[in-house]
Amino acid sequence: MSRESAPDIIIIGSGMGGATAAHALARTGARILILEKGYQLPDIPENRDARAIFQRGHFRPKEFWYDAAGRPFSPGNYYNHGGNSKFYGAVLLRYRAEDFAGLSHADGDTPDWPIRYRDLAPWYDAAERLYQVRGALGEDATEPHHDHPYPHPAIPDEPAIAQVRARLAGAGLHPFSLPLGIDLDRWLGKAATPWDAFPDARTGKMDAETCALLPALASPSVAIESGAEVRRLIADPGSGVIDAVEYEQGGTLHRRTAGLFLLGAGAVRSAAILLASGDRGLANRSDAVGRHFMNHNASAVLAADPRFRNDAVYQKTFGINDFYLSDGRGGPPLGNIQLLGRVSAPILKATLRRVPEVALHQLSRRAVDFYAMSEGLPDWNSRVRLDGGRIVLDWRRSNMTAHAGLLRRFRGFLHAAGFPIVLRHLFDRKVPSHQCGTIRLGDNPAKAPLDPFGRAFDHPNLFVVDASTLVTSAAVNPALTVAALSLRTADHIGRDVLGVTLLARSGLAETGAAEGLPHV
Ligand SMILES: Cc1cc2nc3c(=O)[nH]c(=O)nc-3n(C[C@H](O)[C@H](O)[C@H](O)COP(=O)(O)OP(=O)(O)OC[C@H]3O[C@@H](n4cnc5c(N)ncnc54)[C@H](O)[C@@H]3O)c2cc1C
Repeated sequence: MSRESAPDIIIIGSGMGGATAAHALARTGARILILEKGYQLPDIPENRDARAIFQRGHFRPKEFWYDAAGRPFSPGNYYNHGGNSKFYGAVLLRYRAEDFAGLSHADGDTPDWPIRYRDLAPWYDAAERLYQVRGALGEDATEPHHDHPYPHPAIPDEPAIAQVRARLAGAGLHPFSLPLGIDLDRWLGKAATPWDAFPDARTGKMDAETCALLPALASPSVAIESGAEVRRLIADPGSGVIDAVEYEQGGTLHRRTAGLFLLGAGAVRSAAILLASGDRGLANRSDAVGRHFMNHNASAVLAADPRFRNDAVYQKTFGINDFYLSDGRGGPPLGNIQLLGRVSAPILKATLRRVPEVALHQLSRRAVDFYAMSEGLPDWNSRVRLDGGRIVLDWRRSNMTAHAGLLRRFRGFLHAAGFPIVLRHLFDRKVPSHQCGTIRLGDNPAKAPLDPFGRAFDHPNLFVVDASTLVTSAAVNPALTVAALSLRTADHIGRDVLGVTLLARSGLAETGAAEGLPHV
């Protein structure tokens, strides 16, 4: 695609939402241009070096966001082909069916989604195939109905982790195999490291670059511009049609026009782009753009037993949903627990800087590490806003009663399973890994920026396909839901939008817009 010709579709961001949409829409033959702020991650030793990643922050972007009091902080938000999924733990869990219908929590209720689980279920199936998920059905009582089994069997526990699973089961919990997007042989073939928070240079992690972007770019109709930071969208004031996108690349401002625009820059950055695009921002009749910012209440939990030896390499193979829909005693939900990737001494050192690494090694080899995650509730005042060119993340935590309860209940079971020492660390705004909710779906333009297919009520040719669209954060990892929603939106565009507005221009009639998108 030449620089001069106008693409049919511009997709902003090549992460989970953007790349997944590109992959689906590539099959329509539409000319697609992806504008991506980052570059492809190179295959370098630092990718598998815990000290480089956790102690030296080798991959951390050199940027600052600001809290509500104006204090700067450096967020772990990654800009590269594949977005944050390059660093993800590859846990690809579906939201539970109950998550779509509103739940009562300790500190408030979550709203209804404009769609139900059954509307998204076929797209979860398609996303699990695209991301080659390894898993096992029937181990988790909260699991929603699946029409198809996982494409591959679950990743096995390492012996030390099988022992932990058995000890927790003996204490009365019901551990289940985590659905994971990892080709274990390829991953370990490169180096014996965990994958959680370790970036992948195409060596076995099933992330947005490997599974969606690269196959999409193999199509002659799809191209990517790297190092292209989108600043704003430009809309026709009368019709609301988005005419162009403005981006900076190599110190120069560029403008590109297209028939359709898909925004997939992540929940913080996509909201910032819309807010920067007009006095009140674009797609913002409801004033909801940037609001309802959610990020899980999440803690690392380290459980140690002086008699236990943890020689696991990757560790991250099971989760616990015993407290997901209720606290197990008839009270409100508390959340999900899952293993973290193996937390070695160099990783601990990044937090416990004064403790010698050799002492941390003694602790780490007797410990097993978990991630405890509770739902954050959508709060109108929890928001992303702009202060001049600065991004302000005014995150209001919510539902901490549930998180405290989750930690308390889990600690009791860890003690019962023979882990007398339990340490924990609450992640803060510097870890916006599960950011979502800032441009949400809805069925009322007065209350939400997007319709149930992710189309802006105010702009007929603008769709949002990233984690911004999530109405609730649930208490499971978001990436599979982002991918499933993106596939559903792409299908809608293929059927109902491309056929009408772009068919003639891009010769889609021959390739069949309606035929190509993923179906189950
Ligand atoms: C360490 C870590 C571990 C995680 N583990 C898990 C897990 O196990 N399971 C799970 O489900 N989720 C996990 N997540 C979260 C998961 O990665 C995100 O939910 C998911 O990637 C969100 O998809 P997205 O499309 O919203 O954003 P992203 O995937 O982040 O994609 C946004 C893209 O937009 C680009 N971009 C941003 N701004 C601009 C701009 N102005 N112009 C152009 N391009 C721009 C970015 O470079 C990026 O490529 C993890 C995240 C992290 C950081």
